[in-house]
Amino acid sequence: MHHKQALKHKIFSIISQSAEELNLDCFVIGGFVRDYLLERGNAKDIDIVAVGSGIELAQQVSKNLPNQPKVQIFKTYGTAMLRFEDIEIEFVGARKESYNENSRNPVVENGTLEDDQNRRDFTINALALSLNASNYGELLDPFNGIEDLDKGIIRTPLNPDITYSDDPLRMMRAIRFATQLNFQIEKESLSAIKANKDRIKIITKERIVVELHKILESDKPSIGFKLLEKTGLLDYILPELTALKGIDEVEGQRHKDNFYHTLEVVDNITKTTDNVWLRWAGLLHDIGKAPTKKFHPKIGWTFHGHEFVGSKMVYKLFKRLKMPLNDKMKFVQKMVLMSSRPIVLSSEVTDSAVRRLVFDAGDHVDDLMTLCEADITTKNPKKFRKYKNNFKRVREKIVEVEERDRVRNFQPPVSGEEIMKTFNLKPSKEIGQIKEAIKEAILEGEIPNEHEAAFQLMLKKGKALGLTAVKL
Ligand code: ATP
Repeated sequence: MHHKQALKHKIFSIISQSAEELNLDCFVIGGFVRDYLLERGNAKDIDIVAVGSGIELAQQVSKNLPNQPKVQIFKTYGTAMLRFEDIEIEFVGARKESYNENSRNPVVENGTLEDDQNRRDFTINALALSLNASNYGELLDPFNGIEDLDKGIIRTPLNPDITYSDDPLRMMRAIRFATQLNFQIEKESLSAIKANKDRIKIITKERIVVELHKILESDKPSIGFKLLEKTGLLDYILPELTALKGIDEVEGQRHKDNFYHTLEVVDNITKTTDNVWLRWAGLLHDIGKAPTKKFHPKIGWTFHGHEFVGSKMVYKLFKRLKMPLNDKMKFVQKMVLMSSRPIVLSSEVTDSAVRRLVFDAGDHVDDLMTLCEADITTKNPKKFRKYKNNFKRVREKIVEVEERDRVRNFQPPVSGEEIMKTFNLKPSKEIGQIKEAIKEAILEGEIPNEHEAAFQLMLKKGKALGLTAVKL
């Protein structure tokens, strides 16, 4: 079959011509071909395999391009990369690979296109289109990847047991592609992943996290997490989540399965936000429930303090996975820590409780509400409507309170400096006490968030502390 249509972009004829000048064959391979056939939008990453030197081909292509873009060479991998317009093009020489036990980096020798297709992870990623004059646009598909694309199947070109053992990152990739494309992992592959799950240990945390992110960025992340759980990989990667699995029953009282609940929350939140960190928060919002779970004969199941415990676990988890310990991590921690606040509040929406919520959540108050709304997973339509409505009221109240009281990113209406000047004070603990009293009074609604009212309270509070205002 010919797919000249896929190769409309002028870059392909330039690559083709460059290869001819060097007297070598070359092909477009991998994700670009797969996504073209799936009509998955315009790929901006193109992988070219040359039967010969990929680096030389890249250099020749650069020569033939209008502004001779810089060729980036990765000597250790024998690959080269250049950018043309908004496209990134990777060049590699066709290769044959053999692996050893302890590394996912193979021993490499030159090979044919077929050798190169054999080393690819999945049949749908081994599809190649010829860029050679004799058969330009011909699809080269030795493993019938086109049928797998059609049926939505993830399958390895060679024996899956060897494929996954050779490079265990492929297990994560299989699950990630299954999630992104909503494909099924073929049975033998799935068993092979289960059998090789402990090989994941040789993969760096950073690479695992890249795949986790791609799963979380998909339309339905639960597909990936269910597969990670089913194959046993999740125990290695995120044991905090597998610890949430299962339902206990004591004296006829059961709690919900917090693992499957969590996955529902992640799918829900995915529908309302592109923010991957908020999706992380959805994934981790209940992790404190496993270590805090208790059964009390009178009350039933409780998870006291799970939000606090959970937020502490977020730090450890990020650290273990070598994720950034920066403001993103702090954001996830904050969401987990505050994840029950709007729920507690929604049964009785008082002004002061809303002010405190906005004060504590700051600019993240909308994200927090989004998380809480996604957290509603009850299958009882009446309850669902009720909870949704409660949160709607909280949201309305937030807008109302914000307009009036401006407590988001709260700036005290009377500054420390003004307090010092008024009472002729040096920096001291009284200043903190006065500021705290003003803040509390504003949050409680005892005084408006305005300078005059705050100034009067300062004078009163100062007097109570035995301070005298100097005449100004
Ligand atoms: P995406 O861009 O969505 O990640 P992709 O298929 O382009 O999809 P890349 O990681 O860019 O993914 O890899 C390009 C190609 O290289 C793949 O299509 C596949 O043929 C091959 N490949 C990548 N990683 C591996 C691997 N670990 N084992 C075998 N082949 C791989």
